Amino acid sequence: MSTDLNIDLGDNLVVPFAIEGAPVRGRLARLGAAVDEILTRHDYPDAVANLLGEACTLAALVGSNLKFEGRLIVQAQGDGPVAYVVADYDSGGGLRGYCRYDAERVAAVSQGFARPGARTLLGEGVFIMTLDQGPDTERHQGVTPIEGETFALCAETYFAQSEQTPTRVRLAVGQADGSGMRWRAGGMLIQAVASDQARGDTEEAWTSAQAFFETLGEDELLDPSLSAPQLLFRMFHEDGVRAFDPMSLAAFCRCSQDRISALLGQFPADERAEMVESDGKIRVTCEYCARVYAVAPDEVDVAPG
Ligand SMILES: [Zn+2]
Repeated sequence: MSTDLNIDLGDNLVVPFAIEGAPVRGRLARLGAAVDEILTRHDYPDAVANLLGEACTLAALVGSNLKFEGRLIVQAQGDGPVAYVVADYDSGGGLRGYCRYDAERVAAVSQGFARPGARTLLGEGVFIMTLDQGPDTERHQGVTPIEGETFALCAETYFAQSEQTPTRVRLAVGQADGSGMRWRAGGMLIQAVASDQARGDTEEAWTSAQAFFETLGEDELLDPSLSAPQLLFRMFHEDGVRAFDPMSLAAFCRCSQDRISALLGQFPADERAEMVESDGKIRVTCEYCARVYAVAPDEVDVAPG
């Protein structure tokens, strides 16, 4: 039942898949315009953009498994050149994210031949995944130390320690020449899932899936001419692989003029007065998407009381 692998699939999607007859599930993410819009808006140094691209891809891979309305937030913070990175996936497929960083320290660690990885950029710190199902529900959050040089290894440590689910993750971010240089990203996650098969059989299937996973190259994750189904077939055809309906991804931020007005309304009137610029407007930049909002003081939605 792998005929659905023949569907032609492009970018900005997550394709769930299963290895035939084995308790192994996975998801493959391919991002073109979705990640290019996020990274281009921020105009970060390449190493920082790369880290944010990895965080967005990971958020899409994990968040696309949500069975309910909500958000999946991937964060990491440390004492390195990048103090903070956050990527946020909502169950409609929207992605957004940003970094806080020290430009001089990022430049200093970016001078070598190899692009600095997550550990070099973030330093000592923590990796956090949060499941947010809305205002009236409890947030589910897991925290693990930043371990491993890459963001993918941080995620594998997270799943091993926080969820006790054997998981492999690979993430790739790069630039491809289209009409000008465009950011692209790709990622794959595979997990051993609970099954009623004998334990030995489960372990064997997991070992086999990991062996195929090891062959996955970053170039394959980023190659725009290699469709998601082609890549899955190339990797897992010996065992058989079945792809399920894809979910689409897009750069999307929930900020709006109304939200910014309501946010400003929470400040005391005297502090708000100090924010007014020479043209009579208050300017607020959304950290997530870098959009700048200009609000006149009389447009501020002042909270009652
Ligand atoms: Zn925004």
